[in-house]
Amino acid sequence: MFSLFAGIDKDGNTRFVADVERGLDCGCFCEACGSPLVAKRGEINEWHFAHEASQERPDCIAGAMNLLRRVAIEHLQARETLVLPAYREVVVAEAAAPKSSETVEWASQPVVVRDWDPCPAKHAPAARLELDNGAQVDLHVAVGDWRRKQSQSESSGVGNIGKIIFWVPVPQPGQLRAMEDAQRHIVDTGLFVWVHQSDVLGLVAQARQRLNDRTRALERVARETPSLRALGAGQRWAATKREMDRARYEQERAEPVPATPDDVAVIDESRWAAWRKPGTTFMFYGLKDGSGWLMVQHQDSRLILLPWPHVTDGWDEVLPARVGVPDQELQGLVLADPVNPFLYLRTVVKTTRITSDLSELAAIRWPE
Ligand SMILES: [Zn+2]
Repeated sequence: MFSLFAGIDKDGNTRFVADVERGLDCGCFCEACGSPLVAKRGEINEWHFAHEASQERPDCIAGAMNLLRRVAIEHLQARETLVLPAYREVVVAEAAAPKSSETVEWASQPVVVRDWDPCPAKHAPAARLELDNGAQVDLHVAVGDWRRKQSQSESSGVGNIGKIIFWVPVPQPGQLRAMEDAQRHIVDTGLFVWVHQSDVLGLVAQARQRLNDRTRALERVARETPSLRALGAGQRWAATKREMDRARYEQERAEPVPATPDDVAVIDESRWAAWRKPGTTFMFYGLKDGSGWLMVQHQDSRLILLPWPHVTDGWDEVLPARVGVPDQELQGLVLADPVNPFLYLRTVVKTTRITSDLSELAAIRWPE
């Protein structure tokens, strides 16, 4: 059972039971109902006030809590500076799914505290704070379970004026005998609790933008993934590339051709003798249209496709432009890139031969 720990004297000042005369001589009244009080300072029971004639009602305890609130306001007003904790806000993405949130935090302190009200109405502020970031904040003071109930229902409110509560828990029964005890209780247990601060620096808006951007990006990926999978283009491309790399590898590792006296004559007379990369293989392509082509690697590593066995009129217009660029000096096509020429040749080839032996090359009869 909670007992009344504070009353008011005839001048309206808050008085605690240890600070006044014993009994009816205390000269105190109930803050809530106005009834004269008796100061009970017994040996056994905890010190408290009792109503002289009428029954004490729940309101009367609330009246004592209100007096403690006034003491808390006096205490805050007497402080040289009010040091506030950092403000923290959890920003939640607008989209229902996927659920994502970001916690935004900033610290700002009052530069001006004004409009003190020593006994504000129940839900009225005790003062107005002007913060160093330009935000305006109402300072509320509350005693009891105010913090839990109020902050939940008010946290969604967004306005230009912020709100912070200096919250003091309910004291233990019999704990507050004198003003000194009340002040110690406030200093030891009172704390600031943010309800809301306006987003003057735009940090909340930035976080919300980040969350929404991320949500949109995720939605785009989800939308595009199935179509990419259906296309499968990447996989086919990779297969072609592997085929190409293998052909190059075969060429690179081929043994250098031993120069025999017989071969010398062939090399000397060949169209590629001046520029061919030594030791590389020849790749012969016999196409369905009866034309023949020989792929020879240049010493600068370019691949050259030469008409075979002879340079014919209009050789430079037989194959599509995407295969290669005609080089009149080399009398062949310089391959455009390492993939497209092979993609094309694969569709029109009838027979191929890979060799590094010039005599084997000379033995190829084409067209058949
Ligand atoms: Zn009363």
